[in-house]
Amino acid sequence: MTEIRDTVILGSGCAGLTAAIYTARAGLKPLLLEGHEPGGQLSMTTLVENFPGWPEGIQGPELIDNMKKQAARFGTTFQVAHLNVAGLGAHPIHLQTSVGEIRTRTLIVASGASARWLGLPSEQALIGHGVSSCATCDGFFFRGKEIAVVGGGDSAMEEALFLTRFASKVTLLHRREAFRASKIMLDRVIAHPNIELRANTTVEEVLGVEEKEVKGLRLKDVKTGAGCELAISGLFLGIGHEPNAKMFAGQMDLDGDGYIKTTGNVLTTHHGEVVPGVFACGDVQDRRYRQAITAAGSGCMAALEAEKFLEAHGR
Ligand code: NAP
Repeated sequence: MTEIRDTVILGSGCAGLTAAIYTARAGLKPLLLEGHEPGGQLSMTTLVENFPGWPEGIQGPELIDNMKKQAARFGTTFQVAHLNVAGLGAHPIHLQTSVGEIRTRTLIVASGASARWLGLPSEQALIGHGVSSCATCDGFFFRGKEIAVVGGGDSAMEEALFLTRFASKVTLLHRREAFRASKIMLDRVIAHPNIELRANTTVEEVLGVEEKEVKGLRLKDVKTGAGCELAISGLFLGIGHEPNAKMFAGQMDLDGDGYIKTTGNVLTTHHGEVVPGVFACGDVQDRRYRQAITAAGSGCMAALEAEKFLEAHGR
């Protein structure tokens, strides 16, 4: 028989690590499963200027690394594993993972959200050959080259600004006139001499599939319908994220976009009834705030609820 754990945390981003710090300090010896994007979105970002406590800002990967050390210091066990099937109805909860079966009294889902793609066949064919969703990971390869970023939110602004460290020119393409980005980020982009902003523009095709490297883009002006080509060597997507909750469909209530619906902040439900012992925190259940600090806050709440659940069920 496999050991029954008190708490398993799914996800190693800001929410999961905060849940780990709290449950570890409560003596629950949490097991944290790290998936295919260890550290979550913060590990792919640059300077984080709005996480309280760092007046000069802190690099996202450093912030995550600090949280991980803090969680480890109190007794969190880390395991790289992919969740294949979850049995949330069973007690203890059953998790079929890439490293075998895990049984646990409580589960904290902090699986976050992954980068969204445009979905063009040419884009998919060129991922890793000039198409990327991670400026921090791949910007280095575009030193002295012209590139494009797609999106109108803070992610796109942040990527465009970061990429000016390497690229000779960044064209920022957005499908609408109005931008979702915060004013401060948009103003920085507008003021940057190496960034050109093109609103009302969609990407119709990424050119270079036969050559196996990005050669340019076929664009469309959505107001006039006119098409044109833009010669670039790299395309970066900054168009938001998809929640990683598909594996819970049918066992948990998800909203129309696949985010986990929660009640009482972090309690999960199925057909409106609370799923006992299963909590969700961070971006997988937050379509509104999506900040590092709110993810950390909800990770704390999930941990406290898991503790209360275990107390109430005679741990
Ligand atoms: P977002 O705010 O949802 O913006 C996504 C952008 O991508 C939107 O402009 C959207 O266009 C566009 N988009 C979506 N699907 C598209 C498609 N298929 N084709 C073309 N364009 C598409 O997402 P985000 O920028 O990742 O930001 C998410 C949250 O994180 C926000 O709360 C943001 O403030 C926060 N964030 C903060 C920072 C920071 O403070 N440093 C950095 C990054 C993110 P429409 O506008 O037309 O829908």
